Amino acid sequence: MTRYVFITGGVVSSLGKGLASAALGALLQARGHRVRLRKLDPYLNIDPGTMNPLQHGEVFVTDDGAETDLDLGHYERFTGVPAGRGDNITAGRIYRDILARERRGDYLGRTIQVIPHVTDAIKEFILEDSDGVDFMLCEIGGTVGDIESLPFLEAIRQLGRELGDEHAVFIHLTLVPHLSGSGELKTKPTQHSVKELLSIGIQPDILLCRCDRVIPVDERRKIALFCNVPEDAVIQALDVDVIYDVPNEYHREGLDRVLLRCFGMDAGAAPDLSRWEDVVERIRAPEGRVSIAVVGKYMGMQDAYKSLVEALTHGGVAHNVGVDLHWIDAELFEGNADNAAALEGIHGILVPGGFGRRGMEGKIAVSKLARERALPYFGICLGMQMAVLDVARNLGGVSDAISSEFGEGVRGKLLVGPLNRLRANANGMGGVEGDIESGDLGGTMRLGSCEAVLSEGSHVARIYGVLHVKERHRHRWEVDAHYKDVLEQSGLRISGWSPDGSLPEVVEMESHPWYIGVQYHPELKSRPFEPHPLFASFVGAALEQSRLV
Ligand code: GLN
Repeated sequence: MTRYVFITGGVVSSLGKGLASAALGALLQARGHRVRLRKLDPYLNIDPGTMNPLQHGEVFVTDDGAETDLDLGHYERFTGVPAGRGDNITAGRIYRDILARERRGDYLGRTIQVIPHVTDAIKEFILEDSDGVDFMLCEIGGTVGDIESLPFLEAIRQLGRELGDEHAVFIHLTLVPHLSGSGELKTKPTQHSVKELLSIGIQPDILLCRCDRVIPVDERRKIALFCNVPEDAVIQALDVDVIYDVPNEYHREGLDRVLLRCFGMDAGAAPDLSRWEDVVERIRAPEGRVSIAVVGKYMGMQDAYKSLVEALTHGGVAHNVGVDLHWIDAELFEGNADNAAALEGIHGILVPGGFGRRGMEGKIAVSKLARERALPYFGICLGMQMAVLDVARNLGGVSDAISSEFGEGVRGKLLVGPLNRLRANANGMGGVEGDIESGDLGGTMRLGSCEAVLSEGSHVARIYGVLHVKERHRHRWEVDAHYKDVLEQSGLRISGWSPDGSLPEVVEMESHPWYIGVQYHPELKSRPFEPHPLFASFVGAALEQSRLV
């Protein structure tokens, strides 16, 4: 029977619960167990799809087209287990489903209450689809003490009792801050946070204590005593310079051994973590460095591009080089400003996915610069669409080429426009839901895994080494295939198509050392041990470029 690990967080938000859960998953996997990770988010949005990435970080899209929390990206990268719609839920979705049932009369006139109706729905979500899973790791979003978290904590409290000690373990992630004034590590916030948990009936079994320096034995003892856990269950979670070192760190601190003991299991032989050690070593001590400019909109916050940053790191791992990212606001390339200086020392330009009109002209301008200067260019989703507009305008004679995203008042030739739903359906996968025209912005995109057929002899086919690939999508608009000839006569080959031949998936500039645009998001499928071929190849091209200059 599946064993459940519930992971809560206390003291402050942003302690890295997602990473902690993912790393623990990887550690259990290294011991030969089958794991699955789930995230329960207490906020009221139905899903993170409409949330501002600046506030909430990137929206991670799964194969089955769910728009989920960025932590699911950590889960996939650390465990390689593809996440799905059933692995992330929000309070909003739970309430929506319950209220829909209420309207249908399913509750036969009963009063609908948080306990038991909401808590039952949460428990159902946690327990469902767990066949073949040895350990289900459930991360509860938010911080203990938040009003919104209460139904979730109550649900896992009930589950703890129903499943029994040998099948449910509670891990609480806290912060042990260092006060520079007194030069001390403080344990009080952890004590308070555990008290808060206890007041709702949850006694944590293990405390994972985030800290920026070693927690002395006396402090650990104190935490153990006040929080009523064994001393060796106070696990220090030191800050690390490379996230992929977290599984190694946890093992060194004995987390896996203590966790298995909580379940009444024998830890047995130590797990083989050599591949984690190896990847950390490669990231820590690269043999060279390349500089990549990421030109986009949310340049202030790397979480908005989490998977992208990781995929570039993985691309670096493939070549044993470190990748230095230069975040440049696309608006810098607008107008007549002399922007040559911004690209000084840059070996490759990446225009990532994005939404909204701001910075679009700058993205078109920077793709033009990359094209003209023979600098490696990687356009992802919006980055591909903007490259197409540059080529159409400046080489194809369609000087007024625009995208639907330019807004209503703009006149011009629509090269990037609404997806024809019938064509999308003929494509077989990746559904289109909702209705843009109705103003309902939730669920109006081509989402999830779709197949692309790559053209024989193309650069992209050589990079992948196959002609059929499956990649994840998240976009409202498509490059209009009617402009194929205009683009191809301008040197931009459409080298990847939807299986029915109607939707351009990949474009490439044949006369350029490395110039590729993809309508999908390859960064979502890159892993530390399996760098995505496009990212590996792009970093390789940047490395070549660095040798030229
Ligand atoms: N905004 C564009 C569209 O919706 C691109 C989306 C993206 O880059 N993810 O089509």
